[in-house]
Amino acid sequence: MIWNEDAECMSREKKEELQLSLLKKVVKTAYENVPFYREKFDNAGFKVEDLQTLEDVSKIPFTTKDDLRKAYPFGLFAVPEDEIVEIHSTSGTTGTPVVSGYTKGDLEIWGECAARAIAMAGGTSKSKIQNSYGYGLFTGGFGIDHGAKTMGATVIPMSSGNTDRQLKMMEDFQSDIITCTPSYATYLAESLEKRGYKPEDISLKAGIFGAEMWTEEMRSQLEEKLGITAHNIYGLTEIMGPGVAAECIERNGQHIQDDHFYPEIIDPKTEEVLGFGKKGELVLTNLTKEGMPIIRFRTKDVTALREEKCPCGRTTVRMDRVTGRTDDMLKVKGVMFFPSQIEEALLSITGLTPNYQIHVTRPKHLDVIEIKVETSPELFSDEMKGLDALEANIAHTIHNKIGIRVNITLVEPESLPRSEGKAVRVIDERNFD
Ligand code: ZN
Repeated sequence: MIWNEDAECMSREKKEELQLSLLKKVVKTAYENVPFYREKFDNAGFKVEDLQTLEDVSKIPFTTKDDLRKAYPFGLFAVPEDEIVEIHSTSGTTGTPVVSGYTKGDLEIWGECAARAIAMAGGTSKSKIQNSYGYGLFTGGFGIDHGAKTMGATVIPMSSGNTDRQLKMMEDFQSDIITCTPSYATYLAESLEKRGYKPEDISLKAGIFGAEMWTEEMRSQLEEKLGITAHNIYGLTEIMGPGVAAECIERNGQHIQDDHFYPEIIDPKTEEVLGFGKKGELVLTNLTKEGMPIIRFRTKDVTALREEKCPCGRTTVRMDRVTGRTDDMLKVKGVMFFPSQIEEALLSITGLTPNYQIHVTRPKHLDVIEIKVETSPELFSDEMKGLDALEANIAHTIHNKIGIRVNITLVEPESLPRSEGKAVRVIDERNFD
């Protein structure tokens, strides 16, 4: 089902006309109401009237995460504080948190976008959505909640954690859609398996997973173990939580709600705007947000945009699966790679689980990369010979894929820490002094 056919199946021509008029409006509002933008535009010599075509967007200066941190907490609000009805924030584990404020109108649009995403996964007003994203300042829980309510579906606000209870509710309430991070979904699947459940014993039909990087290989495992179709969803605190983009049943890229968010791809180094199909950094602009509109936000997420019409009938621009972030690319022994490339390599080998950790150290000024990988219970045995061969096979596969030699340590099933939210995949203990 297409939740909003008028918006999601609009002709490109009409969409671009709409985007331009919304852009003109939001850029003007930002300039007039937010001192940060006034200063930024003035310093860059950009005038609101300079925006006459969509190509002119490239003249507008970017907004970065640092800008948002400096504005902490409410420096980028474009409306009086009393018009803000909900606030979200990043955890701030890597620095000053980033805050976002939503007006009543913003929450309606968030609900609309999240409802479109749920519909893409097959959700209807009859669905029972087990929402296992964390509720709180994190946008995951509330974003899906707003969408489920807009749709008129039943939301089961589990939040993350308390896995026994999650499984009990899943069975007793017969939830048909599960929403959480892919790493928590993996843990739920494992826990079901351990208790002797088969996919047909539960009612789940679809999963909507996001908030962290994952791979096609992990998707196949989740679909098989939970008996679902697994859909990617995209959102970010700075722009809007889950629902900015999501995958339809074709699962060939995430449809961006481009009547609310204007997407661009840039070369992260030259900052030049790249065309459709080119891989680069995603830049997003809020077209309709009132509380805290963000103009040309550099997401640091690496992806490409697709304009071809999707077989599902939607005409919205799609973004490829995010394969990494410009700032979490690892450089080991001079080779650059994303942790997701390691995951792809690992999961191409049968018998491995998506539970792994990459440890990078630098004893004696040389990078050493050790990957701890859990084997499946069936594979784990005391037969050291078999395990040695498996370790060698994994090291070889990774060497073929990214060109560096790594040490593999197979560990017992369930010995790596489990995450109820975002998984910690990389531990970089190198000292660069
Ligand atoms: Zn589609």
